Amino acid sequence: MFELTFLGTSASVPLPKRGLSSAVVAHDEHRFMVDCGEGTQRQLLSSGLGFRRMNHILITHPHLDHFLGIGGIVSTLGQMEIIENVQILAGKSTLEKVHELIHKVVFRGARMPMQIDLIEIKPGVVFGGDDFDIVAFPVRHRGPDCFGFLFQEHSRRPFLNDKASALGVPNGPERKYLVEGKAITLADGRTILPQDVMGDVQRGVKLVMTGDLGETNSIAKLCVGADTIVAEATYLEEDGDLARNNGHITARTAAMLARDVGARQLILNHISGRHTERDILAEATAVFQNTCIARDFDEFVVARAA
Ligand SMILES: [Zn+2]
Ligand SMILES: [Zn+2]
Repeated sequence: MFELTFLGTSASVPLPKRGLSSAVVAHDEHRFMVDCGEGTQRQLLSSGLGFRRMNHILITHPHLDHFLGIGGIVSTLGQMEIIENVQILAGKSTLEKVHELIHKVVFRGARMPMQIDLIEIKPGVVFGGDDFDIVAFPVRHRGPDCFGFLFQEHSRRPFLNDKASALGVPNGPERKYLVEGKAITLADGRTILPQDVMGDVQRGVKLVMTGDLGETNSIAKLCVGADTIVAEATYLEEDGDLARNNGHITARTAAMLARDVGARQLILNHISGRHTERDILAEATAVFQNTCIARDFDEFVVARAA
């Protein structure tokens, strides 16, 4: 299960009720900020999440509306002294800009109050947890080093406690052996196989954060079976040429992606002031019904289908 909180949902420039791009994905004790537009630190406080454990920041691409807030956040973290180490993960072009911002503007000539690691990402796994991975994938937008992020729980087979008890498997290391795929022999001589007490494989939850995006064909395969896709809706079809020229998709294209890959839910963000929510939603839901538009501070639980 992933918990997704939107901190900023506007496109390129802030709107009265929408801050610049940022969201937080939480999984157990882990928290990952995805993008950090200007003003994100105040959004973080207003959301109630606060700064604690916010030591992984993933940036999708090197546009100002997605990373300028890093300056304010690292400055505040340095003063509060609540985090010893921050890892900022992004493509090369983004990191070059972030490096300038941190070292030539924020902490210029001063002692660094904490360790800040700038970690260049390539397509593939960029963070491996006990039971989930974060995979960076390239997207076409404008310029180099644009990425989206896939949050993927590992699939698992549940241990069927009731069945094990019924078969007389004691509470002890025997159960651990069975989970590890080893057969055991009980005191009465019966052999219990792992498949006797393990349930069917349960697919892990899949959350795709596409970031700014110029086309969807190249990422469709990766999105197959997603529980939730977060995609931009900067433009509508009536601005199709504008969208293509600026490296963005339309709300309809986002909905077609969700439909074609069999996603369960589409959440639209990166909303510009040129269209009303009603028009955006109408265009998207005509193609894919289970669509909503994220607002700042909206929270979603991305869990397995019931
Ligand atoms: Zn943007
Ligand atoms: Zn962009």
